Amino acid sequence: MTMPRLIPEPNEVLEMLKRTGAYREGHFVYPSGQHTPHYFQMPLAFRYYDTARVLAVALSRKLRLEKDVSSALPKVSIISPSPGGIPVAFAVREALSAEQIYWAEREDGKRMFRQYVNAGEVHPCVIVDDISRTGTALLETVDIVRQLGARVIGCAVIVRFRNSPARLEVPGDEPVPILSLVDFDAKWYDSGDACSDCKKGAPEEHVRF
Ligand SMILES: [Zn+2]
Repeated sequence: MTMPRLIPEPNEVLEMLKRTGAYREGHFVYPSGQHTPHYFQMPLAFRYYDTARVLAVALSRKLRLEKDVSSALPKVSIISPSPGGIPVAFAVREALSAEQIYWAEREDGKRMFRQYVNAGEVHPCVIVDDISRTGTALLETVDIVRQLGARVIGCAVIVRFRNSPARLEVPGDEPVPILSLVDFDAKWYDSGDACSDCKKGAPEEHVRF
């Protein structure tokens, strides 16, 4: 028996996401009216414990290769920008044996941490998420981490859309690369007029976000 490689290739990750239903191909319409031939519903990959573990271990291996992260462990916080990333954050925390974990939520449209999360020791932060489509969630999380007085020392996502930022600019500090298992060439059309699936008459599936 051969040892599984700890960082699977992007095509293997995509295959895993496809197999679990997290990566879907078809003809999708967003609430914004945009059309796209692919859709990611990442929690579907994390409902299978084995898949979740493989993906989280792969992310943790990438993060350990960053000197800022490996030298700070275990006194590191793993941060999710939203409740959707909590399973990823818990699994990465376990793989890294990091001491802290917390996540942001939206209250009145504003991303924030739970009250009193700044109590006690606040470790330097590694931001993790299942997917980065535009980078906005990661960038907003950098802001609120800095408001806590903590440094951002790492960032990793399973899938990064290639047109979104590849690193986080941190004022007064070195930029932090956004590590990913898959860099994905996302395609979308602003409306049905230009959509190739509409031209083919393919049935539409409406997605919630
Ligand atoms: Zn269409």
